Amino acid sequence: MRLELILNKKRQKLSVKEGTTARDLVIRKKLSPRKTTKEKRKTIKCLCGKAALITVLGRGYCKSCFNKRIQKKFFQTLKKQKMVSSGDHIAIAFSGGKDSVVLLDLFLKFRKRTGLNLTFSTITVNEGIKSYREPQIPKLKKYLNNLKRKNLIEDYKLVDIKSLGFSIDDIKKILVDRKGEPGLCSFCGTFRRYLVSKTAREIKATKVAFGHNLDDYVQTQLMNIFDNNMERFLSLEPKLTSPYFVHKISRLIDITEKEIAAYALFNNLHPFFEDCPYLKGSKRHFFRRLLNKIEDSYIGSKVKAKYFLDSVMEKIPTKERKKLFKRVVLCKVCGEPTTKKICNTCEMLENLNKIKRLKAKQKTKKQNKKLNKEYFNVLLFIYLIAGLSSIG
Ligand code: SF4
Ligand code: ZN
Ligand code: ZN
Repeated sequence: MRLELILNKKRQKLSVKEGTTARDLVIRKKLSPRKTTKEKRKTIKCLCGKAALITVLGRGYCKSCFNKRIQKKFFQTLKKQKMVSSGDHIAIAFSGGKDSVVLLDLFLKFRKRTGLNLTFSTITVNEGIKSYREPQIPKLKKYLNNLKRKNLIEDYKLVDIKSLGFSIDDIKKILVDRKGEPGLCSFCGTFRRYLVSKTAREIKATKVAFGHNLDDYVQTQLMNIFDNNMERFLSLEPKLTSPYFVHKISRLIDITEKEIAAYALFNNLHPFFEDCPYLKGSKRHFFRRLLNKIEDSYIGSKVKAKYFLDSVMEKIPTKERKKLFKRVVLCKVCGEPTTKKICNTCEMLENLNKIKRLKAKQKTKKQNKKLNKEYFNVLLFIYLIAGLSSIG
């Protein structure tokens, strides 16, 4: 996501803009000394009496009250749902985007506040997108190294998608001119989840935390509805436990993308990456824009949709949802847990290999055809020369 700061000098107004909308999120700087009555009326106050720097769903917050609000949301759910306990080793899926940077910060603050004995490690997956991920990797390493030196995190892992055989750039090339195949992001998302879960188990983490926010959650569930994918719909939040999987926690799902952007801004948390160049044109991007448009016209829609999804989940007996996990077996190819004989990752890899082989065959055929044509031309030329010289 691109975090933009817009400074409108005339009105001395500072806004945080996410994607294309910024209606419900306005950070205000001190208004100019010569305020008009209209502007005075417009100054929003925080409940504590200070001038509000941000409005969320029509209510104003100063920086400190806003920080407290976000931390309270995060801490309370962790405690209420007993998601973490003393002795846990939490692997944080750390992409380096704003969500993961905020997630790590909130977890560190949670440990400090509660005094619980928690260990954190981070797992970063390098998708192998040359223009996007790779230039920032050294900076990311430096940052994580620093956290490790200060004993804030136990360790960090960098895993390459290429270790599965293909980088996302490779897949992009393979999928070009292939219609009907799953989009690039489906491959990327499946491979990243696979690698994070596998690495979390390898480093003996007891929990794995993802920085999915409220917007991501609503987008995903909406996509599941339009895909008629009930299994995936039911397997999302609240996460169920299974002995095969490292227990997943996604505790940013009560916080909107814009709130996360503002929290990062207020706390000087700098994301390492902006939007991936392949995001545009993806299905997720379409749904993201659609939801932002709805939110723009009907403020609060995303939060309401989340409440609605929560009530749907509450109405489905846990027994029904647990049935999904009863079917968990180990993949026949890679040995990772799955609900099918062969896991999604192995199926996708097999598909990519098939396409690759097919393309290689087509290429050789084309080359042979070209060679034959050239060979024929040379023969024709020799024949003509020979014919001409015999006439001479
Ligand atoms: Fe991967 Fe798609 Fe996200 Fe890019 S936008 S990192 S390709 S899932
Ligand atoms: Zn306040
Ligand atoms: Zn597999």
